[in-house]
Amino acid sequence: MKRVIALLVVAALLGGAWMFRGPIALKLSDRAVAANMKTDAVAGLPDGLHAFVCGSGSPLPDRTRAGPCLTVIAGQRVFLVDAGEGAAEVLSAGGIPAGRIDRLFLTHFHSDHLDGLSAVALQRWVGGASTTPLLLVGPPGVERIAAGFSEAYAIDNGYRTAHHGAAVAPPSGGGFAAQPFAMPQGQGSVVVLDDGGLRVTAFRVDHGPVEPAVGYRFEYKGRSIVVSGDTSANAGLTANARGADLLVHDALSPVLVRRLQQAALKAGQKNRAKILGDIIDYHASPEDVAREAKTAGVKAVLLTHLVPPLPLPGLDVPFVGQARELYDGPLWLARDRDLISLPAGSTKIERKRLGR
Ligand SMILES: [Zn+2]
Ligand SMILES: [Zn+2]
Repeated sequence: MKRVIALLVVAALLGGAWMFRGPIALKLSDRAVAANMKTDAVAGLPDGLHAFVCGSGSPLPDRTRAGPCLTVIAGQRVFLVDAGEGAAEVLSAGGIPAGRIDRLFLTHFHSDHLDGLSAVALQRWVGGASTTPLLLVGPPGVERIAAGFSEAYAIDNGYRTAHHGAAVAPPSGGGFAAQPFAMPQGQGSVVVLDDGGLRVTAFRVDHGPVEPAVGYRFEYKGRSIVVSGDTSANAGLTANARGADLLVHDALSPVLVRRLQQAALKAGQKNRAKILGDIIDYHASPEDVAREAKTAGVKAVLLTHLVPPLPLPGLDVPFVGQARELYDGPLWLARDRDLISLPAGSTKIERKRLGR
């Protein structure tokens, strides 16, 4: 009998809790929304250079990683390098206001580096009531990308302005503008931005048969970040990464990709097997990056654009392979929302994760 009463009491308590589930959730949600509305992770950063990972994935579908995207913050200025699918969500989750985005540098025109552009541009436009379109800086061809995206979203932009008013969605702020630069020659570089103490240079990388493809070097107050874009190991990257505080590099594990290729062959998926075979020499391996970083005297390495996805804990071990034996500095696998900070006037390299 006592047991029955105890069970009834538990049931009543659970029932009561069930009744309050909605109001409790609303209260918690109100609190979280109020905190999110006020969040501006950039405002609290120390002066210096910072790299925020707004997408560490690749074209291979991965629910834990957005497509390729890196945010570089110089002082309080915010720049994006590429914007793969899901980039806008990761920026929001990390508390980086899209309205702050100054411009976006494109490394090349593979779809996985572009397919988050429209969401980023929309959030920037209405988030900051921007009166200028999102500026895409890139090698020749960037004009076509900007014109094509602008046309694809022109009808939607009209709806937004009509619905919310020109003060919230200024007609001049919708869409994209382009700033192409001439391709650098050989292992040289071209300056693509130089103001406010920030200097950004672009250099050629090797993503053949994709051409043009570039990487970028950001320098601000004595600190430097080099972003490889998509490339296999090449001397131009090593030359342009010399002495950098942080090298953010794409990485593909040939060991893991070959296993996927074998599985595709066994399953009779010939197309998938062919593609997996084609991409093996299309990106640097973690060991390649480690060797380049050592040669270039880079202080820390962040591997991103991880191919293939790593759905199980422990797969990072075969992914990294021998890379940590080839390079003495910190070598990390990027996770979405990672923030690497390089404060001005110091040699510190700090890593943490923003938001949730
Ligand atoms: Zn890519
Ligand atoms: Zn690519």
